[in-house]
Amino acid sequence: MTSTPTGDATAFSTRCVHSGLTPDAATGAIAPPIHLSTTFERDQDGSYPRGYRYSREGTPNRAAVEACIAELEGGTGAIAYSSGLAASLAVFELLGPGDHVVAPRDAYHGTLRQLRDIVAKREVALELVDATDQQALASAIGPRTRLVWVETPANPLLGVTDIAATVALARARGALVVCDNTFATPLCQQPLCLGADLVVHSGTKYLGGHSDVLSGIVVVGRDAALGDRLREWQRMTGSVLAPFDCWLLRRSLSTLALRVERQCTNALTIALSLARHPAVAHTLYPGLPRHPGHATAVRQMKGGFGAMISIRVHGGRERAMRVAAGTRLFRRATSLGGVESLIEHRASIEGPGSTTPEDLLRLSIGIEDGDDLCRDLARALG
Ligand SMILES: *Cc1c(COP(=O)(O)O)cnc(C)c1O
Repeated sequence: MTSTPTGDATAFSTRCVHSGLTPDAATGAIAPPIHLSTTFERDQDGSYPRGYRYSREGTPNRAAVEACIAELEGGTGAIAYSSGLAASLAVFELLGPGDHVVAPRDAYHGTLRQLRDIVAKREVALELVDATDQQALASAIGPRTRLVWVETPANPLLGVTDIAATVALARARGALVVCDNTFATPLCQQPLCLGADLVVHSGTKYLGGHSDVLSGIVVVGRDAALGDRLREWQRMTGSVLAPFDCWLLRRSLSTLALRVERQCTNALTIALSLARHPAVAHTLYPGLPRHPGHATAVRQMKGGFGAMISIRVHGGRERAMRVAAGTRLFRRATSLGGVESLIEHRASIEGPGSTTPEDLLRLSIGIEDGDDLCRDLARALG
């Protein structure tokens, strides 16, 4: 295996650089090679002493990225998929007829579509709640609840769910807690350490960080058997991350702490300036003291409040579109978490059935100079 056990005492940024990597045994190369081979040789006795047989089951590049993310999230293992949605669907495969799942009303629209259009059709009862309200969660979680899905901060309204309190409610009923940690990143929030059973990421976002690799991750907490079930499902269904994508993702993780620290600092500066702007009716960012989830965010987010901001502008959809049209540095595109800042009219990408307000713009804050970004937004807001 390529994993380097760096130990609990190692700081997050050190793990970003070193976890899962050792110099190549054959050449001494510091940068890991990309192993494209789909098949691996047996010994004369028929065994596979190097741990690899066939690339659907595992590859050296996948092992490196999985080991690194597991260490960053404080998990016992991780599984890399071809996209974030492939990762969430793999988790939903744990559910069967008669099970009950509780999920937030505000979550990534693709996750909600999977729950409504795929999972709910398998005789799984689905209950969507306002997950920022612990009372609502408490009354939704019942004896048949098998899984509670958490996404915090949530897409696109930046609602905050109290992870530890949700875990306590779910534990009492024997339900699993799965947290989509895409927006927060393990730098800011580590749900497994707060008691969650699984963490899901769209690796396409902050983990990849450069808008050039589609990927998904499931990180497994204390229950290693749960990881074995997910791995077995992956082996049978083949939704795996290819070697080059694993290599890109592992390379990106080396700068995760640097990138996300800068992005969080920029985001706080920008949120404070937007909150004062007369064209902006609401600035949704958990780092702002008047955000309803701020106190919970302070408790459970350690390295920063993330770098996603949503604003609601005066003047409805038309004004929102005009603001998006007026930026020069912020690019008009969906997705998030890359080094470049993006601005997006969210309702129109979510399409029919979206409940996102028409006056909402979602901002993904990049690593550019914070003052440049503030000026760009101020100019576009007019
Ligand atoms: C993008 C995203 C996903 C889906 O990930 P893909 O990599 O696009 O499949 C899931 N959850 C959140 C919060 C996301 O932003």
